[in-house]
Amino acid sequence: DPIIGVLALQGDFREHLTALAECDVIARPVRRPSELDEVDGLVIPGGESTAMSNLAINFDLMDPISDRIKRGMPAYGTCAGMIMLAQEVLDGRPDQRSFGGLGITVRRNAFGRQVDSFEAPVELTGIEGGPVNAVFIRAPWVESVTDEVEVMGRVTDGPAAGRIVAVRQGNLLATSFHPELTGDLRLHRLFVEMVHAAS
Ligand code: GLN
Repeated sequence: DPIIGVLALQGDFREHLTALAECDVIARPVRRPSELDEVDGLVIPGGESTAMSNLAINFDLMDPISDRIKRGMPAYGTCAGMIMLAQEVLDGRPDQRSFGGLGITVRRNAFGRQVDSFEAPVELTGIEGGPVNAVFIRAPWVESVTDEVEVMGRVTDGPAAGRIVAVRQGNLLATSFHPELTGDLRLHRLFVEMVHAAS
């Protein structure tokens, strides 16, 4: 059976480990390169992308994770994790780095200060059973995508209507929101399928 890692440097990695355990897969925290070597896919949690970038560099994980992604390892990023997968980051700190791989430009903290966090139903391509309840916390949105990227979902109401918040490109999946906080396992199950298909 494939093993799914959760990058456990910072952020809500515990919630992802719990969600994956509920999907009946083997899930393990990843904090060092030797642990990365043992996993078949990697979840990058929500948190703070500037801190995650610093920690990934200090823990010698920045280049190894980028390399694994380039070689096709499935990865799923939520919120800060989406930022870490983006090839370009707007409103980032100058020294902040991402693993890259995903052909998107994201804008950090895009929804603005008045709407620090909110929830909204979002319909997702390829996810059956109705819209997910998307929880956004100082979330990024996807400002633009390359031709290789499939847009899975957009905000439908309010000032951010039309903004892209869920994408897929090959073995990479990213959402601006946090399914790990809602108990809805559909996105985690999709990622588990992606890891099975790639292993
Ligand atoms: N604002 C955070 C960042 O820029 C992301 C917030 C989150 O992951 N909930 O990394």
